[in-house]
Amino acid sequence: MIRAPNGTTAGLRSQPLSGTCPFRTLTPAPPIRHHHPMTCEECGQEASGRAEGWEALLADLDDDGQDEVVFYCPVCAEREFHEVE
Ligand SMILES: [Zn+2]
Repeated sequence: MIRAPNGTTAGLRSQPLSGTCPFRTLTPAPPIRHHHPMTCEECGQEASGRAEGWEALLADLDDDGQDEVVFYCPVCAEREFHEVE
């Protein structure tokens, strides 16, 4: 048996961890795909950029007991939810 100078068995010494990332074998997450573009429930306008001012809410549109996420553009959100009559 080959013995290293410090008495441990050669080849069984643990490798230094420096420079190794425990997560390096993980594949990177795929980019988020927008299968469903964010469109306004009222006017059908598509959101662009950061969709600033857009509002999302849950509503059971088709009465199946499951809430859907619906989006409203700033103009429609203002008219639908924030306009003071
Ligand atoms: Zn709209």
